[in-house]
Amino acid sequence: MVDRFQSAHVVNLHGRLFLIDCGEGAQVLLKRYRISKGRLDNILISHLHGDHVFGIFGILSTMALDGRTAPLFIYAPRDFGSLLRFFLSHFGEGVKYEITHIPLNMKEPEEIASFRHCRVYAFPLNHRIDCFGFRIVYEKMPRMTASDSSEAVPYIKSFAYCSDTAVFPEEAEWLKGTDLIYHEATFADEHIDLAHRMYHSTAREAALVALKAGASKLVLGHFSSRYSDLSILENQAREVFPESYLAIEGASFEV
Ligand SMILES: [Zn+2]
Ligand SMILES: [Zn+2]
Repeated sequence: MVDRFQSAHVVNLHGRLFLIDCGEGAQVLLKRYRISKGRLDNILISHLHGDHVFGIFGILSTMALDGRTAPLFIYAPRDFGSLLRFFLSHFGEGVKYEITHIPLNMKEPEEIASFRHCRVYAFPLNHRIDCFGFRIVYEKMPRMTASDSSEAVPYIKSFAYCSDTAVFPEEAEWLKGTDLIYHEATFADEHIDLAHRMYHSTAREAALVALKAGASKLVLGHFSSRYSDLSILENQAREVFPESYLAIEGASFEV
């Protein structure tokens, strides 16, 4: 839609940026919201439906034009490998930086990357094709002084991203204790049958997942274009989980 772009989210973890999904036009939005592609070293792709991946080749090309030399890591389903090879063989002439594809193919939550104070996990979702969610956990031990006798309690914050999926039994369990959950909410209550047929969720179902997982905040996204007024989705979610918010273009949420 003119005023609604496809999936693309940036997680800023104390200056370390992760781009999660990369729908068409994502690089325009990065520019609009002044997020530097130069600081982007990790891209996570949930699945290979166009609305989550069509924007990546524009970004890879612009990175090359910008003279990027720093390596780039792309965590994406296995079949992304052939798309990347196609891109590099036809459009890769100016690409002077290394692109590493880390294939996702897990049946349950698995750690896929770790950085200083940060671990990234991926887990399978329930969609029409292979699709993966992500969980980013920040953990830091407090600085202790010699006189401090109390037990050190780590400071932990976490964010989870549930891209296209119908809700499934293990989901809330896998998200347990996550502070901020992004969950797709393609449909409202009246289209629940369609949601299940298409392997998507309603806003209310997403809210129930957040409630069961004990999250503190839920961000809803991936709205069907049939809804011009999105408050219906927000309201249905809030009946179950009051801390539900819409992922409107440019919105940012603190964990
Ligand atoms: Zn999809
Ligand atoms: Zn989608």
